[in-house]
Amino acid sequence: MELVFENVNMEALDLDRISRGVARVAQQVPRPDDVTVVFTGDFEQSIRSRSIEQPEYTADRLGGMGFASAMTLAGEGPECTIVASAAFFVVGEEIEQDLDGVRLLGHEGWHAAIHQRGEETGDVRLRRGLGDTAIGFLHATAGVAIGEYRVERSLCNEHWWPLDTYLTVLSSVLEGVRSRLRAAIVPAPDLPDKVWTVVTQDLHQLLTHLSYLAGQELASGRTRLPTSISQSDDWNVVVGDYWGRLLDLLDTIAPADVPTGLSRLDALTASLAETVPTWLARSGLAIADTESGIYVSHSGLEP
Ligand SMILES: [Zn+2]
Repeated sequence: MELVFENVNMEALDLDRISRGVARVAQQVPRPDDVTVVFTGDFEQSIRSRSIEQPEYTADRLGGMGFASAMTLAGEGPECTIVASAAFFVVGEEIEQDLDGVRLLGHEGWHAAIHQRGEETGDVRLRRGLGDTAIGFLHATAGVAIGEYRVERSLCNEHWWPLDTYLTVLSSVLEGVRSRLRAAIVPAPDLPDKVWTVVTQDLHQLLTHLSYLAGQELASGRTRLPTSISQSDDWNVVVGDYWGRLLDLLDTIAPADVPTGLSRLDALTASLAETVPTWLARSGLAIADTESGIYVSHSGLEP
């Protein structure tokens, strides 16, 4: 494995934590020699400088922080590059700031393993030529969610739970989605573009968060989700009974440490994509293709 340090003060880094994280990645991937890990003090710049267009990938925000903390970029064949925020490896801040860099690399390491084994579901829209269609969008969203679920389920199966700060992030995501939904469709959707943005961007973000959460929930025998969230008004409006259906579906998917054929994963992605419209219908939203592109309509229900 190759290690790269960018825009970072080496003296501030906890090299022991870095080596534990790198050792984890080496255990997880089939071909460690084809993995590069970048520790960066400027995450956006390090991603941008690699200028890889990967609209199907989302950066992970696992630390409970406001910024993206890590991302795995696919290269040629088995090559991949993990870009990790150096903030997670600063001496002395691990406990105080809840920056668990070893787990961060454990998470990205499973993404790298999925890539090297040819099991990437996040690019299903491109692979299957689904284009800019409703079904293409739903597949892309479902494919990313399945990747995140498999990764988190593996880590949680070893009882390596994410930090509780993650739940704080989830609460704010739920609140944000709900308020943007409300703003976009009450009293009536005058601007379809506004609804469109909420549905595409927020749905994608929310489904990814729910997939992380599903990994913990299923690994724990459905005991991790605190009632402070599951009984909250925002949860009931935004997720509600879709949660049980999502858990049942994801529970049929092997975690990232179990190699699984891509055709099986694509079929599961399609199954998940199919459930999304029924979820959107909870808020009165429907997504469909028209001659001029994907169109989101609304029935006038209040969220
Ligand atoms: Zn991830």
